[in-house]
Amino acid sequence: MSKDAQILIVEDNPRNMKLARDVLDHHGYRTLEAADAEQGLVLARTEHPALILMDVQLPGMDGVAALDRLRGDPETAGIPVVALTAFAMRSDRERFLAAGFDGYLEKPIDVRSFPRQIAALLDGAGDGARR
Ligand code: MN
Repeated sequence: MSKDAQILIVEDNPRNMKLARDVLDHHGYRTLEAADAEQGLVLARTEHPALILMDVQLPGMDGVAALDRLRGDPETAGIPVVALTAFAMRSDRERFLAAGFDGYLEKPIDVRSFPRQIAALLDGAGDGARR
C-alpha cells in the first residue's frame, strides 16, 4: 500500500490526536480526524480510509461499539481497525483482539516506532486478511 494512504484517526484527546496526525503527516500519509465515534463512522463510510486508528475510550459510543458498527456495515466491514489504548494489561490486549480489532497500539504512541507499525498494518491490510 502506498505511503499516501489515507488514515482515519478517531480520538477525543486533542493532544493524542495532534501527535498521531503530525507523525503520520510527516511520513506522507493523508489523515482524517474524528473526535468521536459517530463522526468517525460517517468519515469511514464516505472516505473509505485504508486504516482506522480507533481510540477505545470515547465520549458517547466507545471504540468497541464503533468497531461493531463498522463490521456490520458492508461499506466499512473490510477496513482494518486498530485499537488505540492507554491500557497496557495483557488481559486488555487479548480483550481488544477478541473484540475483532486488527491490532492495537498503546498510547502515548512512540513517535519512532509508530511509522513502522503503521506501515506493517497497511501491508497486512492489502491482502484483506484479518489478524
Ligand atoms: Mn479517549
